[in-house]
Amino acid sequence: MADIKAKKYSYNIFCLMYHYFYYLCKMINDKTSSVSIKTLGCKLNFSESATIEQKLAQKGFVIKTGYQAADCYIINSCAVTENSEKKCRQLIHRLKQINPQSKIIIIGCYGALKHSELLQNQVDMILGNNDKMQVVDYLEQIFHHNPQAIEKLPKDSFFSAYSLHERTRSFLKIQDGCDYHCTYCTVWKARGNSRSDSIENVVNNAKKIVANDIKEIILSGVNIGDFRTEKGENFYQLLQQLVQVEGLERIRISSIEPNLLTQEIIDLAGENHKILPHFHIPLQSGNNRILSLMRRKYQREFFADKIQQVKACLPHACIAADVIVGFPTETEDDFEDTYQFLDSIPVNMLHIFPYSQRPDTIAANMEGQISQGVKNQRVKKLIALSDKKKLAFYQENQGKTYPVLVEHKKENGFLYGFTPNYIKVKFPYQSHIANQIISVTLSQLDSNNIYITK
Ligand code: SF4
Repeated sequence: MADIKAKKYSYNIFCLMYHYFYYLCKMINDKTSSVSIKTLGCKLNFSESATIEQKLAQKGFVIKTGYQAADCYIINSCAVTENSEKKCRQLIHRLKQINPQSKIIIIGCYGALKHSELLQNQVDMILGNNDKMQVVDYLEQIFHHNPQAIEKLPKDSFFSAYSLHERTRSFLKIQDGCDYHCTYCTVWKARGNSRSDSIENVVNNAKKIVANDIKEIILSGVNIGDFRTEKGENFYQLLQQLVQVEGLERIRISSIEPNLLTQEIIDLAGENHKILPHFHIPLQSGNNRILSLMRRKYQREFFADKIQQVKACLPHACIAADVIVGFPTETEDDFEDTYQFLDSIPVNMLHIFPYSQRPDTIAANMEGQISQGVKNQRVKKLIALSDKKKLAFYQENQGKTYPVLVEHKKENGFLYGFTPNYIKVKFPYQSHIANQIISVTLSQLDSNNIYITK
């Protein structure tokens, strides 16, 4: 017992000395305050975090990365599933252990939806999505004692954002919010109504991204196909302008709702190689009864036609689909319907999510909630189907030659990149090939089913 007490005492002394030493070093070497931003969730959050980070750096804050000690941690949070919220709470705990004196600020969807729950988790400030960009002004007040008035923004205001971290690809925010109100979703509650940037702003941001020697942009938003400007311009018109940006080599359309992927957008991708033949189209269920309960805007036949439309124009396009399994009342037969439907259409990979019961949604209050065990089994079956389809797609493309954008990140002696139709390729590490577009003939798959070059 005395031994345990002695160990605890020495541990406390060690912690005290560590923090004393940390602050002493800081006072001597570093008169500026440090901030670290952690991002959870979607591409939109990543683009916004990057912009917040750029603004903080301009204001003189030292940006810390990884899990370095910092004076303030900002968590750009996600609330799409129960698990996303849990990750945020675990992160708060971890960051508090790194530096118990640090300020913790939560911004984003979890902050917007669960203000009171988060207050019980030792956080110092919570900002929703509308006000998240103002975290920069708040930090100025707190750390630089700059008593400026911080204006309250009108509901559903829009701010532009883009990331520069990856150095080969940038997430460019073009739209925010959603008007669709699917019965399982909380994102529209956390993000507000659909609104978009102007075409002029998006094009200017694309030019700034290109000026940073970045070749690919990934258009990001909550419902990007719903891009609409005050002048009445739509997503197709935005794409028409973006393809004209000099130096911009690749435009990836990330996720687009099936009813908003129009024939003219598909045709434009067919005519212009800058728009990559890679479409991520949320399906959510292959059973029409479940689709109606979800209040999705289509039935499965419409989805199947859309996929055929894409493949008719772009036979080598990669089509990925989101699927939710275990939605309330989904029977084994309903799930089998989804499985067979997906097996029968030329979708090439799946993103599978077990249904997550989000409070204050219509679906959360439905009878017939499905057990976690059943959801896990269904996820497992669809993962196996996705692996099969992905491998078939990779093999279908064997022998074809594609331009691959090589990314910077080195892993186990290799660099990685993707073809326009999202096939992963790995290259033995050579520093000079990073951020280059290299023509590759797909010939040999490694044990993880990634194409390898010599
Ligand atoms: S389309 Fe549906 S699922 Fe997607 S963000 Fe909008 S409401 Fe949520």
